Amino acid sequence: MAPSTERAATDRPYPKTCAACGGEIDVRTGAVATDLRGLTIQVDGVEHGRCRGCGEVYLTLAAANAVQLEAARRLRRARGLLAPDEIRAIRASLGLSQAAFERLLGTGPKTLVRWEKGTVFQSATADRLMRLIAARPELAALLERDEGDSAP
Ligand SMILES: [Zn+2]
Repeated sequence: MAPSTERAATDRPYPKTCAACGGEIDVRTGAVATDLRGLTIQVDGVEHGRCRGCGEVYLTLAAANAVQLEAARRLRRARGLLAPDEIRAIRASLGLSQAAFERLLGTGPKTLVRWEKGTVFQSATADRLMRLIAARPELAALLERDEGDSAP
């Protein structure tokens, strides 16, 4: 693969000059740091623009998403939490839609979508609740009934 620094200037998805200091921006592939849940995580091998003057990093939307995914994946693994495909499998075993599983767990809307995409991950509490439901599927019926009782 050709070094990204050989890319024609017209191809680059980064600004020519830094918005913060006006410095020149180099295109390079290397480590990019991202903050997640109060931790700074370094992700290697990311193409990005970096200001020669102040070091400001510029990422394409695709690269920013990839960095976010990788950081979430690492932190999730380090904490021993269920992986996106495991969550999907639990939900599928219950025959529930994402919205129905969200109601069951008491999370906000679109939360399951993000957990299953891997862009964000569940709390330890939500993780344990999902493991309990996976081990004892009858708990899902119990929670659904409680939810029905509290409905207006
Ligand atoms: Zn700069």
